[in-house]
Amino acid sequence: MAFPVAAGEGRAAVDAMRAFRVEGLSVTMPHKADVAAAVDRLSPTAERLGAVNTVLWRSGALVGENTDGDGFLDALRVDEGFEPEGRRCLVLGAGGAARAVVVALGAVGAADVVVVNRSPERAEVAAALSPAARVGVPGDAGEADLVVNATPVGMDGVDRLPIDAVHLGSGQLVVDLIYRPAITPLIEAARATGAAATNGLGMLIHQAAHAFRLWTGEDPPLEAMSAAALAALTSSAGRSPTP
Ligand code: NAP
Repeated sequence: MAFPVAAGEGRAAVDAMRAFRVEGLSVTMPHKADVAAAVDRLSPTAERLGAVNTVLWRSGALVGENTDGDGFLDALRVDEGFEPEGRRCLVLGAGGAARAVVVALGAVGAADVVVVNRSPERAEVAAALSPAARVGVPGDAGEADLVVNATPVGMDGVDRLPIDAVHLGSGQLVVDLIYRPAITPLIEAARATGAAATNGLGMLIHQAAHAFRLWTGEDPPLEAMSAAALAALTSSAGRSPTP
């Protein structure tokens, strides 16, 4: 069930979860930080990121977890066959999604994680989350094996790119964390340069799969989840998503 929650009401939503004994919650923008402050305790990952995307009960306490990073890694490995260990990565953005990606890539041994962001001070904060990370410039993408867009640029259907396509090319994988529209301006531009490119639907599905496992202790029905996500996006966007 989806509960529309107004900005600033994240704590109230967690209180409602307690009152109704809701078994688990997925949390999305803009509530991840508010919910982190409202649960009883945080997992080490959620604490490091200051953001919660999954809430679960453990021994009568509400625990905040963050499965975005693990979902991102699964999407890379399972869906794209890309192993990030030893690879050079560049992340555009420094918000919640970017931070989860930076920490996850550093944790699995990426050789280099370059953070490029509009506000340099926020880039510093994101890069400080992982010893493998540093602040860089868009031109560093030319050296990267993996380029990740963790900004909303391109989400509104306007033809705007979060990075000049001159820095992209064949041999690279470009992941746009946006999944609506399914084919973003960045994906189109990256493919035109010969790079492989995909959207954020895989991350969305795999982060939910991790949440499912935490709530139920069971293996997630990935095929059914993928089919449901594709159907929802196809019907809402009027375009056929390609995960
Ligand atoms: P957020 O915390 O608000 O961070 C947004 C980031 O994008 C910030 O670094 C911000 O830069 C930058 N930004 C925003 N507008 C920009 C612009 N016009 N030009 C350049 N940079 C801009 O958001 P978030 O939660 O990290 O989400 C970021 C994106 O990832 C969204 O598109 C979201 O839908 C997607 N996402 C996907 C998944 C998935 O499962 N696929 C999961 C989470 C998020 P400043 O620091 O300078 O403000």
